[in-house]
Formats: sequence, structure tokens, C-alpha cells
Amino acid sequence: MRMLRRRRVTVVVALSALAALALGIVWSVVSNSRAGDQANEPQPSQTPHTEPGLATEPDAAAERSPAFDVDSPDSITVVVNKQRPISPNDWVPNDLVLPEGIANNWGDELRAPAAAALQEMYASAAADGLPFIITSGFRDYDRQAALFDGYAESDGVDAAETYSARPGHSEHQTGLAVDLTDGGECSLEECFGDTQTGQWLREHAWQFGFILRYDQGEEAVVGYSYEPWHFRYVGTDVSTAMHEHGVTNLEDYLGLPAAPGY
Ligand SMILES: [Zn+2]
Repeated sequence: MRMLRRRRVTVVVALSALAALALGIVWSVVSNSRAGDQANEPQPSQTPHTEPGLATEPDAAAERSPAFDVDSPDSITVVVNKQRPISPNDWVPNDLVLPEGIANNWGDELRAPAAAALQEMYASAAADGLPFIITSGFRDYDRQAALFDGYAESDGVDAAETYSARPGHSEHQTGLAVDLTDGGECSLEECFGDTQTGQWLREHAWQFGFILRYDQGEEAVVGYSYEPWHFRYVGTDVSTAMHEHGVTNLEDYLGLPAAPGY
């Protein structure tokens, strides 16, 4: 009897295993065919220029795009690059102010919201022992033209275009871009990114609504080589979202085409 029972038990166990195996195969076939169906359906996330960080949330990306005005020159999310001149060409913001309490090499102004945010960022950096200096803020069309012509004359047009904008294409004309330095040898040099101040700004700028606009390795999208000193005010909604999703250039985040050249 014992032997028989064992055999019966063995048979039952074996049959159960077979049944489980069969179920497993059926389930796997069903799941695969479901995956296949999905793969053949048009994917909304395949629309070009959605934010990489939200590629799996196409609805969120689609909803967000119209919320940001990237065209109006007075929008804090206006995008100016080699493909997108500021319009009108001679535009001057009407809310320029001198940021208070920050050393400022040329006395450059910024738009009021950018200046207020910069003052907050300065207070925080100074509290950490790293006060910074403004080397450049708002530049009008004529000043940019003079700068670019000077660079082109000394380095040639091609070289100048890797680091300086043609007039009408400079983000500095928006009044929302600022160049910062610690006053040391790396002022306006790539090595500024390795200084304590450069590192602090890279880490904390987003908390105040600024982004490092031309990061390392982004030239094919943003059109400029690495500029660890150039920060752009975009507001904390955009800067926080870019930080959280690890998006490293404004064009990708806002769904705009790359602007490697004119
Ligand atoms: Zn700059």
C-alpha cells in the first residue's frame, strides 16, 4: 500500500508539473503576442523631440509643450540659438535692473526675475564661502555685434562662431543669461567648471531657476562648446524638471530641434 500510495503521489506530482509547464507555455505565448500587438501599434512617444526623461509618459510631454512660450522675446522660456534669432532683432527687455549686492565687472543688468533669482543664488553661494562675480549680463544687439566682430577679426569667423554668437542670436540679449566667475585664473575658461565655485553652481543653480546652458558634450545640440560659466534663467519649473529628469540641454527639454549651426 505504501508503495502504491507513493506511486500515486508521484504520478499526481508529475501530472501537476506537466500541467504547470503547459500553463506556463500558454501564458508565455499569450504574453508575447500581447507584447507584439503593442509593438505594432503607433507609439505616441515616437513623436520627435519629446523629452528623453519623460519618453514613457507621452501625455505629460504633449501637455507640457504648449505651456512654455519659446518664441516671445519676453518669455522666461524663450529659446535663442543659432537656428532661432531673437525677434525682433533689436529687442531690448523693459524690466532690466542691476542685480544688487553682487560684484559686477561691467555693471551689466539682467531682467528683474533673473536678477532676483541671482541674488538668492548669490546669498546661498556666499553662505557656503563661494561668492561669485558677474562678468556679463544683458548685451544689446550693437554690443554683441562689436564683440563678435572683434573675435572674428582676431580668431577668424569659424573659430569665433564656436564660442560667440552672431548679433541677434545671443542669449545675453534676452537679459536672462549671465556669465559668472570666481575672479580667478579660470575666468571664462573651461577649467572654471573644476573650481569650487564652478562645481557649486553646477550642483545648485537649478534650485534658483538657472541652468548650465552649454554643458560638456552638448555642442551638437546647443551650438556652442562647453561654457561652465554661462547660466540661463528659465524659472524653477523648468530647471527643476530638467534636473529631476537628467535633461542636459534646453532644446531637448522643450522639444526643439538641435541647433549646431546657422
Ligand atoms: Zn555667456
